[in-house]
Amino acid sequence: MTRSVIIAGGGIAGTVAAIALHDGGFAPVVHEAHERGADERGAFVTLAVNGLNALRDLGLDPGVLLAAGFPTPRMVLRGASGQPLAELPLGGPLPDGTTTTTIRRADLYAALRTEAERRGIPVAYGKRLVHAATDGPGVSVRFADSTSAGADLLVGADGLHSRTRRALDPAAPAPRYLGLLNAGGFTAGPVDPALRPALGVMQMAFGRRAFFGWAAAPDGSVWWFANPPRRTPAEPGEFTPDRWRAHLLELLAGEAFPAAALIEASTEVIGPWNTWDVPRLPVWHSDRIVLVGDAAHAVSPSSGQGASMAIEDAVTLGRCLARTTDMPAALAAYEAARRKRVEKVVAYGRRSSSTKTAGPVGARIRDAMMPVVMRMLHRNGDPQAWILEHRVA
Ligand SMILES: Cc1cc2nc3c(=O)[nH]c(=O)nc-3n(C[C@H](O)[C@H](O)[C@H](O)COP(=O)(O)OP(=O)(O)OC[C@H]3O[C@@H](n4cnc5c(N)ncnc54)[C@H](O)[C@@H]3O)c2cc1C
Repeated sequence: MTRSVIIAGGGIAGTVAAIALHDGGFAPVVHEAHERGADERGAFVTLAVNGLNALRDLGLDPGVLLAAGFPTPRMVLRGASGQPLAELPLGGPLPDGTTTTTIRRADLYAALRTEAERRGIPVAYGKRLVHAATDGPGVSVRFADSTSAGADLLVGADGLHSRTRRALDPAAPAPRYLGLLNAGGFTAGPVDPALRPALGVMQMAFGRRAFFGWAAAPDGSVWWFANPPRRTPAEPGEFTPDRWRAHLLELLAGEAFPAAALIEASTEVIGPWNTWDVPRLPVWHSDRIVLVGDAAHAVSPSSGQGASMAIEDAVTLGRCLARTTDMPAALAAYEAARRKRVEKVVAYGRRSSSTKTAGPVGARIRDAMMPVVMRMLHRNGDPQAWILEHRVA
């Protein structure tokens, strides 16, 4: 008999898990809290090759699926005076030409949901899970619209502030704030070539008061993000869009790199988002409920790995469940396959984040030491190979 699965969350982990489980002979239904299209605000995501490789394992062609994005296989890190500190590979090309790809978040979500629906997987919108419990041999869930559903398995793919995580373990640790805010934007069309970096190279600079990243899109526009350090998270409604833009312009005024000009050239300045991680969750699953993606282990956005970890989780879960009819054993195998790797990536992301919050003395030491340290680290190959060259077992 086909086993039914409720997937809470139609983001990256949820849609990919749905495709992986559907391939494994399960009957998943994705339940997304937002109405169709309502959650698709946001800036962009740089999806690393390890995540793209995992999509390929599901028979998806990243070149087709992410056609709205563009390759970003390299990164230049700059100091406060704009000088390059290091040029690093960001991932790829793999033997088939795949490289790390940058794509608008809305386009990524839409592509994954369209692919799930094309395979006949239902995606229900406006379904915010508010309660979940084991119910005899299965699970039952309730949504905010007072409807309910039951299934053989619940996959919690409901992101950083996961409700499923709390249902699974009411004592689960809360996400940890990392001392950085996030902003992003797109220039309104092509910009002056003097402001536009080389295609394929993500630029990142340690500004004096905020970290800034930018990349040229093939249409001549520039996509950018900023990370202002801040001791406490931003409160909802604390910044109007105009105040947020003014705040970023003030923080990035007078830098040797074109942050202020790029913000000025953008019609919409998105954010702020707070930056969090979830370093170690004691409970990932019960016999009938399991967490994937940010619900299980959010990593700092500074790692550039959150989306790829979500995809790797989802593909691994699908494989573990397809290998045996013993569901508790499959969920335990999934945790065993994933926990060590994601916790190592979370720790790596936290270290990357902390380089962005250094004070003036720390920043001078960082800018002086980084070129030397990077040269040493790269002497024996790419030190990020353990992240980027990983293949799902
Ligand atoms: C500013 C920022 C920049 C980032 N940049 C990058 C990057 O460049 N590269 C990268 O790899 N990662 C990046 N990340 C991290 C990445 O976005 C996440 O790790 C990734 O989206 C996790 O996927 P997910 O499916 O677990 O969660 P999400 O993508 O957040 O999806 C969760 C889904 O669940 C839905 N949901 C929430 N609660 C419920 C509920 N109760 N019931 C039903 N549905 C629910 C949400 O609406 C959402 O659609 C960034 C994160 C941020 C905040």
